[in-house]
Amino acid sequence: MSLRDFLKEEKDIIEFNESFSTKYEIPLIMKKYDGGPILIFNNIKDNTSGIRIITGVCGTRERLLRSINANKNNYYEKIINAINNPIKPKVEKFNFDIEKNDISCLPVLTYYEKDPGPYITSGVVIAKHPIKNFQNSSIHRLLVLDKKRMAIRIVPRHLYSMYQEAKELGKDLEIAIAIGLHPAVLLGVNTSPKYGIDELWIANSLLNGKLRLTKCETVNVEVPIDSEIIIEGVIKKDELVDEGPFVDLTGCYDIVRKQPVIEINKVVMRKNAFYHAILPGGYEHKLLMGLPKEAKIYDSISKIIPEVKGVRLTMGGCCWFHAVISIKKQAEGDGKNAILAAFGAHPSLKHVIVVDDDIDIDNMLEVEWAIATRFQGDEDLIIIKKARGSSLDPSSDMEKMTTCKVGIDATIPWDKPREKFLKAKIPGENNVLN
Ligand code: MN
Repeated sequence: MSLRDFLKEEKDIIEFNESFSTKYEIPLIMKKYDGGPILIFNNIKDNTSGIRIITGVCGTRERLLRSINANKNNYYEKIINAINNPIKPKVEKFNFDIEKNDISCLPVLTYYEKDPGPYITSGVVIAKHPIKNFQNSSIHRLLVLDKKRMAIRIVPRHLYSMYQEAKELGKDLEIAIAIGLHPAVLLGVNTSPKYGIDELWIANSLLNGKLRLTKCETVNVEVPIDSEIIIEGVIKKDELVDEGPFVDLTGCYDIVRKQPVIEINKVVMRKNAFYHAILPGGYEHKLLMGLPKEAKIYDSISKIIPEVKGVRLTMGGCCWFHAVISIKKQAEGDGKNAILAAFGAHPSLKHVIVVDDDIDIDNMLEVEWAIATRFQGDEDLIIIKKARGSSLDPSSDMEKMTTCKVGIDATIPWDKPREKFLKAKIPGENNVLN
């Protein structure tokens, strides 16, 4: 299953044949259409490689859910099921059409005014453990230093562990970077299963076993056959450079850090490859990060409350910090327990609003209405001081990484007459309230 297979079914695509620059010009157009159609740029200024830029592939919730054959009510189960039942992909022989020695042919974008250089933002970095026989796949931002080198931002998670273990053996870590993948693969890669499970197996489960891999030539790594572009190389054991400042989920600049360097062996690609660019802080970035977390929150609350209707990490909350959750309340205190379960399921979560199942959580006006008519600050508010938070929130204690978490239980009080809280209806009105 390839990105090209996915595009065949998609109608909402705009193609640009005029030539635009990779520096600011294309990002500006991406920003204008953010959250809307898929964009394809057929001509790139000063680039004759024939590579096309594609963006917005995962830019709406509906499109992303379509890619895993799900809808807004059933995707939680689909994602959790894939995480619980990874499927090992088949490995086949495959030769890509084109081979290059370096990345000078790639139309890598420079997005924002303070960016230190061009950044690859959709690259799935795939590595094999230096001793044990398992892979890890995760998306990392990559700063192009020159045509053979990039800086990679590695937060201390699974790839970081592999890099450390290779370093202790005195080795560089062999990796491959896949660009231009089916949206389901990108979603699968972001599900964060435990260390030792290759995220590509989760992606394969989301694709009902249709993901195939092939062995790279210069590194001991298996990559999706249907990738548009593959970069092979190593993360150097002994070289660190300044990485950043770069824009993260919040749309604010992340700080400069010393980060490892990738040395590139070679690049292979399809003819007229799609180079997938993701606007930092845009819809695509947010949805790919947030959707798997919504599934985890849903799963966690479902274990303590029989009927969870929906979970949304809201766009205004960066699809990361704010959750709105609707439940079918069955006892006093259910709302508060849902808040606690949500915080447990997604440690970066900061503010949670819980509403009854008559509230449409995709409509912030209704959510605010629930707070206005069903919530009392002295009874229904939970404040947890100095909990572990996200490194991305500039208002938190960024040294200690702690933050204040707030839960708002905007469900109807159990001890008051329910009818007083329900929206009046006009007979015949097709109301979401019932
Ligand atoms: Mn992992």
